[in-house]
Amino acid sequence: MKILVINCGSSSLKYQLIDMDTETLLAKGLCERIGIDGRLKHEAAGKTKYVCESPLKDHKEALKSVINALLDPEHGVISSISEIGAVGHRVAHGGDHFSHSVLVTPEVKEYIKKYIELAPLHNPANLEGIEVCEKLMPGVPMVAVFDTAFHQTMPEKAYLYAIPYKYYEKYKVRKYGFHGTSHKYVSQECARMMGIPIENLKIITCHLGNGGSVTAIQGGLSIDTSMGFTPLDGIAMGTRSGSIDPAAVLYLMRKENLSVDEMDRILNKESGVYGISGVSSDFRDIEEAENEGNERAAAALETFAYRVAKTIGEYVATMNGVDAIVFTAGLGENSGPIRQLICSYLGYLGIELDSYRNSLRGEAVEITTKQSRVQVFVIPTNEELVIARDTKEIVESL
Ligand code: AMP
Repeated sequence: MKILVINCGSSSLKYQLIDMDTETLLAKGLCERIGIDGRLKHEAAGKTKYVCESPLKDHKEALKSVINALLDPEHGVISSISEIGAVGHRVAHGGDHFSHSVLVTPEVKEYIKKYIELAPLHNPANLEGIEVCEKLMPGVPMVAVFDTAFHQTMPEKAYLYAIPYKYYEKYKVRKYGFHGTSHKYVSQECARMMGIPIENLKIITCHLGNGGSVTAIQGGLSIDTSMGFTPLDGIAMGTRSGSIDPAAVLYLMRKENLSVDEMDRILNKESGVYGISGVSSDFRDIEEAENEGNERAAAALETFAYRVAKTIGEYVATMNGVDAIVFTAGLGENSGPIRQLICSYLGYLGIELDSYRNSLRGEAVEITTKQSRVQVFVIPTNEELVIARDTKEIVESL
């Protein structure tokens, strides 16, 4: 069965077509600048890359251009749309209603709409992607895979905030957690690489990209995670502050006479390693600036690594131990120096990095020595494959 995986952002649309009989990627691409001007970048196995600059006025136009690229005699990989067996959609927020991926029904769409309040930037685009696909591919089953679902196994003590309970009851203000498909995928891969059933393992997964989160996974289930009610909580990120004393936010708002929207922008877009360094939100630029002696860049990297290490420590306590730690996503997969900096705090776990393996790129690899008491891995994430696997499972059970 060929499954199309769609990840719709407000002005972008990422896609992959995967042959699920062999789990091989047939084609992938990205529509950017939807509603602005428009560009489609398309790559198919064994074919030349294809870039098309043409106006994409909305998501419908974007999806039409994706279908055209997939059908294109020169760059495409299918000869009829009927070859697509199902579409898997990444959906940011499933609230506390969805603990698994589901077949899209009118009721499911109502819930995605309801949770727009909790994910105002993402859920509208995700819903749009579903509705456009329904129009362009009538009869093809659609599956929604939620970023929050994997964390629905967190116990109450992990997801409740210590604020008046009525706000939890009235508005569902609680921890949800994000990057669920990524944490799930790399933890399963980790268990596979260790040759131990995941049910018997305590794993801490560190998804470190532009956004970042750390998750405690016991017996294959998420029991705590660093992102919260929104993806702003937890470790410091590219431009997001992560956890901060709530009183500091109130203090700044009063001092600088900031509106709610202005404070929101500062915490989401002007903070994190960008805010501390003043250099960039991209860790490559910050590492370069640090090498040139920029002290704020060094402070940003130190603060970042320290907070990731502290969160790992919290989760070691939460699970009363840890068998493996996994690094993934843009930074986690690519930056040996950052991994080393984080692991420099973890000597108490008996972690010993193998510096050669820590310098490898682009493959799933264990980066600790044979003597290391806790194994550390780098595992490239593959959220699209998780979405396609869930989609296949649901469609086959219909
Ligand atoms: P993601 O959100 O997973 O796509 O991660 C993107 C981020 O990963 C970039 O903004 C960089 O900060 C970081 N990154 C990617 N490649 C490298 C690298 N070679 N060295 C350091 N950081 C990297």
